[in-house]
Amino acid sequence: MSTTTDTASTAARTGTGNTTAASAVTGSTTAADTVAGRPAPLPDLEDHPKVAGERFLVGLFVAVPMAALAAAIPLAWGWGLTWRDVILAVVFYYVSGLGISMGFHRYFTHKSFKAKQGLRIALAIAGSMAIEGPLLNWVADHRRHHKYSDKEGDPHSPWRFGSDWKALTKGLLFAHVGWMFDGNHTSKQKYCPDLLADPAMRRISKLFPFWVAVSLLGPALIGGLWSWSWIGALTAFFWASLVRVAFLHHVTWSINSICHTFGKEDFEVRDKSRNVNWLAILSFGESWHNLHHSDPTCARHGALKGQIDTAARLIWFAEKFGWAYDVRWPDEAKLAGKKSTKRQLGSMTKRAAID
Ligand SMILES: [Zn+2]
Ligand SMILES: [Zn+2]
Repeated sequence: MSTTTDTASTAARTGTGNTTAASAVTGSTTAADTVAGRPAPLPDLEDHPKVAGERFLVGLFVAVPMAALAAAIPLAWGWGLTWRDVILAVVFYYVSGLGISMGFHRYFTHKSFKAKQGLRIALAIAGSMAIEGPLLNWVADHRRHHKYSDKEGDPHSPWRFGSDWKALTKGLLFAHVGWMFDGNHTSKQKYCPDLLADPAMRRISKLFPFWVAVSLLGPALIGGLWSWSWIGALTAFFWASLVRVAFLHHVTWSINSICHTFGKEDFEVRDKSRNVNWLAILSFGESWHNLHHSDPTCARHGALKGQIDTAARLIWFAEKFGWAYDVRWPDEAKLAGKKSTKRQLGSMTKRAAID
């Protein structure tokens, strides 16, 4: 561990600021904001570190799907890839990926819209099926990322070790996967008191191992019944469970690594977040990460005209059906001062009043 890392974790451990971390990125206030009696700020990290078994499991879920992905290509030309597997892989990719983008990220972390209970539960379950950790842990880590964003205390900044090419190479690897092996848990009490106070969400988060099983065994079961064969179950498990999870993991992790290093700064930010167009479709719009850091509670990340944002489109549909409401669409007046491009804002934008 370098000195930078040690300082970073010390800073994270002690915590700073008067408002709670959760309110800083959600734009709302929580019970913990109460200044009466001026409680001491909660520490950023929980006081029990990750046990060895937990770190081993993270390693297992990184290594096994990745090995599967490497083996996938030669297998594709040999045997065991059918349209059935492709359909199942795409469906499960969309369900779990949109669960992360629309659910874990835009809804639970940033409250960019309000949702009826049925939709909240569906989003919490769908996101859990991406196997990126339990809901409450994901939200706590991500709110901490926004609080420190490329500074000391950010759980996954590629700039952690410095900005020369050697430090940045190390940093990119750290931001992509290495950070998950950090021995500490982000404090849920400090970063997501709202979700801790919500019994349904706490329960879904606790049931994470069950959602992992559903996500991995679901495709195998459907593939087996669909083809009425064991081999059909096996190929579905390979493509729609292992390969799909590995692919989605790398896309999500790329938002932390690539989208904080390369790309365009279309909107003014204090960190290194950037817009990366080639990842937009695969990431459901998450790679418009520069706008996201410029205006974290905005429901559409690809706010500029022509920027594809599948998650925003789904929020738009949910709003039409009445399942989502009070959606925080891009606000022309608010974004005007931050825009560093001549490009216009796209649809779903709240237009500024013309005098
Ligand atoms: Zn970020
Ligand atoms: Zn975010």
